[in-house]
Amino acid sequence: MNQRQKMKAVITFLKKNYDTEHALARNKFMLLIGTILSQRSRDITTEKAERSLFSVAKTPETIAKLPIKKLQALIRISGPYRQKAKRIKAVSEIILKKYKGRVPKTRVELLELPGVGFKTADIVLSYGYGVPTIAVDTHVNRIPRRIGLVSSKANIEEARKELEALTPLKDRFIINLGLVQFGQTVCKAVRPLCEKCELNKLCDYYQKQRQLSIILKRLETIT
Ligand code: SF4
Repeated sequence: MNQRQKMKAVITFLKKNYDTEHALARNKFMLLIGTILSQRSRDITTEKAERSLFSVAKTPETIAKLPIKKLQALIRISGPYRQKAKRIKAVSEIILKKYKGRVPKTRVELLELPGVGFKTADIVLSYGYGVPTIAVDTHVNRIPRRIGLVSSKANIEEARKELEALTPLKDRFIINLGLVQFGQTVCKAVRPLCEKCELNKLCDYYQKQRQLSIILKRLETIT
């Protein structure tokens, strides 16, 4: 099976199993701040930090007004909170002053904001503005490599371009959304549930592991 055929099968699988209906409804500013909070943080701690912060302030105006110590305390659970607090405050101030309170909608402008890298920019573009770009987060960076959809040596930007070249515009949205959920439940970073996985027949990682275990078993019978 070539890469295009594999991608077609993966898209069909993701569409069948994961829902995208409500993904675009989120507030763009909260989406941006939530994505900054998620950097180097587990999903569960990100959610707690989001709840804590947004219960007190959820607009550029209210976050820009928060004293930095108060902001740090609100997001303390989310990993490097001092650095994140500084960035979130700076992002809020820039959005207020430069963009009149609106989150910018181009990749170039987003990448100029403190703490915004490729993943964060692409998440805002795709989930916030419906732009057909594929956000490469930890799950999207791992799973297509295992399956053999992108080259193992590709960096994050190259991986995004390779994935986008294989994915029709109308289907790009499901890639991040579906693979995140698939990565949290089945294709986990450590000990993926390959035996139960519906994609195992087309997955390079699984096929290699299988061949390896066959060879090891043969060796055991010989020795
Ligand atoms: S077979 Fe295993 S490694 Fe491959 S996609 Fe499924 S869970 Fe991930």
